[in-house]
Amino acid sequence: TEQGLRELLLGHIRDVPDYPKPGVVFKDIAPLLADAPAFAALTDAFAELCEHYAVDKVMGLEARGFILGAPVAVRAGRGFVPVRKAGKLPGETLSQAYDLEYGSAEIEIQADALAAGDRVLVIDDVLATGGTAEASLELIRRAGAEVAGVAVLMELGFLAGRQRLERSLAGAPLHALITV
Ligand code: AMP
Repeated sequence: TEQGLRELLLGHIRDVPDYPKPGVVFKDIAPLLADAPAFAALTDAFAELCEHYAVDKVMGLEARGFILGAPVAVRAGRGFVPVRKAGKLPGETLSQAYDLEYGSAEIEIQADALAAGDRVLVIDDVLATGGTAEASLELIRRAGAEVAGVAVLMELGFLAGRQRLERSLAGAPLHALITV
């Protein structure tokens, strides 16, 4: 059941207070990754979304989105596209800057990573302010591809990332297996 899945996953996520800075509760997924049944259940749940939303490509956000997204792509029989922090990818890239609480950040994909019309599912571990996910949706559109949706393990509801993403999702679904 969905409730059973939520409890299984939640039971393997560790709250680390004041990391990486005071006042932040870090959601540590290392225990989940180390538990084969929990990691498999998470992978299966995301892979089902690939069928349901006719996804062509799975896009993972550096770094934990790589760990979660790559097995989903393999399980679902889709290709995987890594979104990296700026300056790590060879060749021509598309980059997108976005605002952080203090300062800004920039993410990139390779210019040929997506074909026009590809339906792309974005995967990450935690949706916080939504800045990273929003920038990734922008990259998808600029590549001429289509946003199939965003899937995260955990949504931090109080940071209102869902609201921030509303415009760039343009009706595509935001799936959070757990919302806190
Ligand atoms: P944001 O762009 O604010 O939605 O932040 C999302 C990125 O930061 C994701 O890639 C998360 O992995 C990471 N992140 C933000 N807040 C947390 C948190 N409380 N625990 C774990 N990861 C977080």
